[in-house]
Amino acid sequence: MSAVGTPENPLRVAVIGAGPAGFYAAEHLLKQDDLSISVDLFDRLPTPHGLVRLGVAPDHQSIKKVTRVFDKTAARPQFRFFGNIEIGKEVTREDLQRHYHQICYTIGTAKDRKLGLPGEDLDGSHSATDFVAWYNGHPDYRDLAFDLSQERVAVIGVGNVAVDVARILARDPDHLATTDIADHALEALRNSRVKEIVMLGRRGPAQAAFTVPEAKELGQLDGADIHVLPEEAALDPISQADLDANPNRLTQKKVDLIQGFAAQQPTGKPKRLTLRFCVSPTAFLGDGGGHVLGLDLVKTEIYRTDDGRLRPRTTNKHETLPCGLVFRAVGYRGVPLDGLPFDDWSGTIPNVQGRIHAPDADAPVTGEYVAGWIKRGPTGVIGTNKPDAIETVVQMLADAAANNHLAPEAPEADAVEQTLRERKPNFVSYEDWLRLNELEVAKGTPANRPRVKFTSVEDMLQALREG
Ligand code: NAP
Repeated sequence: MSAVGTPENPLRVAVIGAGPAGFYAAEHLLKQDDLSISVDLFDRLPTPHGLVRLGVAPDHQSIKKVTRVFDKTAARPQFRFFGNIEIGKEVTREDLQRHYHQICYTIGTAKDRKLGLPGEDLDGSHSATDFVAWYNGHPDYRDLAFDLSQERVAVIGVGNVAVDVARILARDPDHLATTDIADHALEALRNSRVKEIVMLGRRGPAQAAFTVPEAKELGQLDGADIHVLPEEAALDPISQADLDANPNRLTQKKVDLIQGFAAQQPTGKPKRLTLRFCVSPTAFLGDGGGHVLGLDLVKTEIYRTDDGRLRPRTTNKHETLPCGLVFRAVGYRGVPLDGLPFDDWSGTIPNVQGRIHAPDADAPVTGEYVAGWIKRGPTGVIGTNKPDAIETVVQMLADAAANNHLAPEAPEADAVEQTLRERKPNFVSYEDWLRLNELEVAKGTPANRPRVKFTSVEDMLQALREG
């Protein structure tokens, strides 16, 4: 194979998935001064930015400013965005192999983890990730309906997604009206009759997965008083001994915060946000007509495993939590890609530092890589994806230098566009997206909102045709 990375023969890379990991990978590839590299970033939606647009909560606008960094990457001359193209459907993996030396999958983790409990699929039991996508205006989720006529809602899990869901349910809709929450969600939340949101942690305060700033916000909501039972805020002897032996500033802060909540008196806000610890659902209870009516909860106790972790174990103390709406916020998981290995247990693509590598294979898959959540699992914040993507790109550059890459038949930039025009003529470029962005922002301005989102692909394409 002739050397790639020269102006005559640039290294052609396809990055699949235009979320943070995709942009960070593109940026690190394109900033290599000594190599000619071009990057085509694909997304199945016409809009880029992945979970920054469709996952980050609408009342956390400052986090979304990271898109300015992504815009700088997109302005690089060797960058192209091809939105509204689903890899595996309109364009196949074989097509990519025909056009690119390297492919990097940054597709995230599109599904939710299951609890495996009886009644989990009753009406009224939803994945939190569906709710998040719905209130953020994801086109595939805009037609979902959530029964907000229920007075009590349970959220299973105490990670940051659970916090987001609880906060959006608890907030004063007038506050949400100043954000870019999807209009359909704002209307539904204005008509909500929810009075209590109960978050369920299966371990204690010291093991809560949420981070301190997110937890802090729960105690300062305009629409809801926080409620924690003092006996559940207190640390069990094993957790206390663990914290004493391994002092951790953030864990201590979290525990102090939760114990502070337990000491707080209600101030008469319209809703109540209850944080529970050491309780685990064992079954979803139905009303006989297929709708969830409540949860059977069991008290748990913390024990130390042989390898030193603090895990929950069930006791024989059960209680029923009546609730007509349940959100399961127990983590995301990836979906397999045709022809590539998949680790069903973790829901990720097995890899070594980003090189796709089935555990039973002698060598990595040539020319194909992963970065972001599909590589490491759904952990960390947006910025965590930067070092993660760089680690992958370092392997990609080493492989390119060793001439160990795919051998595309048609690597020319025009050849890709030709294929796309045949398969999906209405693909969307970054310039198109910037136009959509302007339209959304302009629509938001009169109401003092950051933007009003397009929530249907057809509406986006129509606006581009008109514009
Ligand atoms: P997560 O942080 O892993 O939290 C999952 C929660 O589900 C934990 O409380 C976990 O408890 C619980 N859980 C898991 N299996 C369970 C079971 N069988 N029964 C009961 N509870 C169970 O996941 P996430 O909330 O989906 O968040 C994903 C990532 O995105 C995280 O890194 C998060 O920090 C990040 N994120 C950040 C923000 C932000 O920065 N504002 C917002 C949203 C998401 P155990 O701990 O006991 O397993």
